[in-house]
Amino acid sequence: MNTELLGRTSSENNHKLTQEIFLASYENGYIIEKTLTIPHCTNCKRFLPDRYTLGVCPACDYAGAKGDQCEKCGRLLDPTELLHPRCAVCGHATIEFKDEKHLFLDFTALQEKLHKWIEGQSWPDNTKNFALGWIKEGLNPRCVTRNLKWGVRVPLKKYDNLVFYCWYNAPIGYISITKDAYEQGKIKKDWKSYWTDSNIYHFIGKDNVPFHTIFWPGTLIAAHDLKYQLPHYVAGYEYLNWEGEKFSTSRGIGLFSDEALDLFPADYWRFYLASILPESKDSNFDWTDFQNRVNSELIDNYGNLFYRATYFIEKNFEGRVPLAHLGEKERELQWHLEKTINKVKELIEDVKLREALREILSLASATNKYFQDQKPWASDDAATTLYTTVNILQPLSILLSPYIPDAADRALKCLNAKKELSSRFSLEPGHEIKAEILFKKIDSIEKVKKYKTKYIKKDLAEKTSKLEAKGAVKANKSIGKESSALTNPDALAMVNNMMSFKEFEKVDLRVATITSVEDHPNADKLYILQIDLGSEQRQLVAGLRLKYTKEQLRGKQIIVVTNLEPRELRGTRSEGMLLAAEDGTILQPLAKVPNGSKIM
Ligand SMILES: [Zn+2]
Ligand SMILES: [Zn+2]
Repeated sequence: MNTELLGRTSSENNHKLTQEIFLASYENGYIIEKTLTIPHCTNCKRFLPDRYTLGVCPACDYAGAKGDQCEKCGRLLDPTELLHPRCAVCGHATIEFKDEKHLFLDFTALQEKLHKWIEGQSWPDNTKNFALGWIKEGLNPRCVTRNLKWGVRVPLKKYDNLVFYCWYNAPIGYISITKDAYEQGKIKKDWKSYWTDSNIYHFIGKDNVPFHTIFWPGTLIAAHDLKYQLPHYVAGYEYLNWEGEKFSTSRGIGLFSDEALDLFPADYWRFYLASILPESKDSNFDWTDFQNRVNSELIDNYGNLFYRATYFIEKNFEGRVPLAHLGEKERELQWHLEKTINKVKELIEDVKLREALREILSLASATNKYFQDQKPWASDDAATTLYTTVNILQPLSILLSPYIPDAADRALKCLNAKKELSSRFSLEPGHEIKAEILFKKIDSIEKVKKYKTKYIKKDLAEKTSKLEAKGAVKANKSIGKESSALTNPDALAMVNNMMSFKEFEKVDLRVATITSVEDHPNADKLYILQIDLGSEQRQLVAGLRLKYTKEQLRGKQIIVVTNLEPRELRGTRSEGMLLAAEDGTILQPLAKVPNGSKIM
């Protein structure tokens, strides 16, 4: 199993496959033309998302109504209904409405086929009911094109000004990325067979259910001659919360995976997340629970047993599996192993991953108990106990390998064993093995608990727009119910790297006077400043030492950001930030003003 195949939907293969799938749907009569009326600013020379057209509300005369809704009276609007429309980007009344012909995938025509297909699936109840709910509401034709300069071109002369909407070609990325990987030699089996001759399983969050149960299968049904398989199983998971709260990039709740990996190995995360997988209801990430489960269920139960048994053999039997005489207890354990293998196979086939993990861990517990009870360190027949234990550890490591692939790999290397799952004991007496400590226990979680994600919303927006500029959007990028780019209120701000006035208003800038200046004891470039903010005194740490003498600063008025989170700079607390140009020249009011005056 390889879990690390990443690719881009900007690839040549994605362009080709998207056009191929589209043309097949077109030939089959599932593509229809409709006219859309879209606001366009002649000053900015761009089409505007609905929310970026402002005007007077036809219902309540509110002058700041947005093209999708009037915030004053709540009425849902179409941009064409606004009186005196103007552009939210440049502020000018240079709006014209352009009629534009677009192409739609005819989901009304696909509805019955989709309905029948969904009825026949044995997906989890929540996923299936969600999909059937959409069908029941009735499906409408869905626009597949946009008027943009970049993207996958529509391969029809009449529409060659249009490109495909990302909801349409993003899931085609599943197929094109497989093709890319095949052409790059990363996979050996023919790329197409993965999508024409396999059972396809999708693991997604519940917000993605409509895309994987309706829009993506509908896309494939419309192009049925190409013989791509419809999803075999769609696991639409409920939500995972973070310490009792929703993940939020703007509030810094949660971690990004690179941050998570800085803290603990991937196996710890995989193990814990699999054990709390939100299969049927929302679940919660909890640091203390994380520590407890990793330490007791993974490390005590499996990792320590592994080390104790292999170390004992290394030390007392020259690293060779000893000769054994199996008795009733050993037979019993072997039977438990056989039962576990069968049960886990069944559960994995039913995509009950959490329950499968529980079964595996219960075998680990039983083996642990056996080892403890037999006390090989004080017994005449340590050989039998050790032979049995390592022969269980081999299949146990294989059973655990989907959950902890790195550690399981190392374990099998130590056991010098093949990755063949069987209840037959295959490590013969004399077989050479090595000992290894597979995991390090989590000592203290207190420090980690305070760890906050360093990506707040603005950074994320920058990151995303940079990535999008590079075309590095992943195929499995989550697609909301409303296709993102055109309606997302943050989309424009993200693209232009702007912030809303509301966001700017959060920054509290005030005038302060520097009352004292001292050298920072641990840093050559830093001063410690005491400042008077009128209602309070504060301490700042600032890198001004190479630019100003203490005398030049004392008594001067400065501008301070007062609501930044306090920081420790080389061991000294800084409760704000003064404004300066990039060369270090500080900003000062032109005339003296009362300390604490707000800058606006
Ligand atoms: Zn109104
Ligand atoms: Zn404009």
